[in-house]
Amino acid sequence: MFVSMLTYKTERKGKLLVKVDRWFLSSKTCIACGYIHEELKLSDRTYLCQVCGHAMDRDKQVARNILNEAKRMTGAA
Ligand SMILES: [Zn+2]
Repeated sequence: MFVSMLTYKTERKGKLLVKVDRWFLSSKTCIACGYIHEELKLSDRTYLCQVCGHAMDRDKQVARNILNEAKRMTGAA
């Protein structure tokens, strides 16, 4: 229901709705180097990359990763 409403709204505005795979590791992947931090826990609110040292708020990192994946899927990256 939510997706169909979202599809209607985006099409009406001439926008594109991109659905990212639910299993995409958006919280574990470093946006700077691509390292996958398997040991990251839900209680870890700051992402700290063990390889390149990149640090960022976990939720902001997730949002950036989802945006980057949507761009990759649509060829906009
Ligand atoms: Zn990194």
